[in-house]
Amino acid sequence: MTALALALLPVLTDSRTGNGASTGTLGDELLERAARDDYDHWLATTLPAGGCVRPIRLRGTIRDIDPATGELLGRVDTENLPDKVIYLPCGDRRASVCPPCAETYRADTYQLIRAGLAGGKGIPESVALHPCVFATFTAPSFGPVHTRVTTPEGRIARCRPRRKASYCTHGQRLSCGQRHKEDEPCLGRPLCPDCYDYNAAVVWNAHSSELWRRTIITLRRQLDKTAKTHGTRVRLSYAKVAEFQRRGLIHFHAIFRLDGIDPVYPERTIQPHPAITAGLLAVLIRQVASAAWFATVPHRVKPQGWDIRWGAQVDPRVVRLTDDGDVTDVAVASYLAKYATKSTEPAGIPPGRITAENAEIWADKRTHQGRLIRACLRIGGHPHEDFQALRRWAHMLGYRGHFATKSRRYSTTMRALRAARHDWHRRQHQLPGHHGDKTVITETELEWAGCGWRTTGDALLALSAAARARDHRRIAREESAAAS
Ligand SMILES: [Zn+2]
Ligand SMILES: [Zn+2]
Ligand SMILES: [Zn+2]
Repeated sequence: MTALALALLPVLTDSRTGNGASTGTLGDELLERAARDDYDHWLATTLPAGGCVRPIRLRGTIRDIDPATGELLGRVDTENLPDKVIYLPCGDRRASVCPPCAETYRADTYQLIRAGLAGGKGIPESVALHPCVFATFTAPSFGPVHTRVTTPEGRIARCRPRRKASYCTHGQRLSCGQRHKEDEPCLGRPLCPDCYDYNAAVVWNAHSSELWRRTIITLRRQLDKTAKTHGTRVRLSYAKVAEFQRRGLIHFHAIFRLDGIDPVYPERTIQPHPAITAGLLAVLIRQVASAAWFATVPHRVKPQGWDIRWGAQVDPRVVRLTDDGDVTDVAVASYLAKYATKSTEPAGIPPGRITAENAEIWADKRTHQGRLIRACLRIGGHPHEDFQALRRWAHMLGYRGHFATKSRRYSTTMRALRAARHDWHRRQHQLPGHHGDKTVITETELEWAGCGWRTTGDALLALSAAARARDHRRIAREESAAAS
């Protein structure tokens, strides 16, 4: 990131922190900080925030204790630090809220998914040979929308061509002969917003996690049955990522892996029985997904309840790895690449909860997102918890699940990746908690002291330092890769 790009980030400042706020220009703020004797120390306390634009400030004490002897190895009172606080990242996954934290989240998600496929990060490399399937679970249609579909020949198909023009009862044309360009604002928008079933769409978002849960239970049952016929047992692991489609519906990408179960050492990850192949897993996924169904509890708007099921294209694909551990399938590779590089943020989603004060701005019926939010508020007026949640999660268009989840054994955890990074920071900067390779217990008594940087100048210095640290790590990684 360049200094200019850094200056354009939406930085949160809060002058009620540290040793007095600045009143001058950005230049004054930069000088004032950089001229202090404790500047280097201050910069080291900002690095654990990893370039976050709205870091969390904590005050209190951190004590490192030797678990064997109970000896106090080190102690830090934030009172003695330059700003009297430590800085930690906000950890938000949304690029619209905090681009650097979103970048970290994406990179961690990528590492986590990849380790489950190819091994590493504590996962044996032999998993690369286990049956693996990639599948995408989408929502059904709630009315025709503008689309951009690439034909198998690589051409962009016409949106919704019809030989004879037909119109809905609202007088809207129900066809579209255009070949839409990427990022055209009409994409994902209904041909007729008045015909589009907004209620059903947000109810589906709200129940998608439950549909996933039921699908996995059935899939595991089917696999158990199949394994039993071969006198063996298998374990299904997965990593799943939720994303919003342009039409404002959630969809899931999932990587499934089959492990065998060692009858003597059930904790070990071994190859499954050769009869239980990736092809078989793909067939089972398709069958289970097309049959998965349940009805919601009744609602005034829909007395028989809504049917919750998957859309048509689950399209399970067998994942194969090359000798170098690269994915051979283009779809899977580009999906992984997205988590390594691109933003997965949908446009136009409110950054926080919908309240009585901001509802008017976000629940605008002239926009597609606004109508989805209105539907959440409308359906959420019901006393049943399944529906009430739609009001609380209106800013997520009804979806209240996680964005990256995995079964316990698939791979390492986000927490482990974060802990490893945190530890690395400590080693690099000799912050409390670093005592060589010795095991220590860290006791923290920290309380929330606020959110944000003290001044824009501080933010710029801390963010540039974090960007330099990232570059430094990247170069070190590349050099060690080139040397090996
Ligand atoms: Zn952040
Ligand atoms: Zn169109
Ligand atoms: Zn209509």
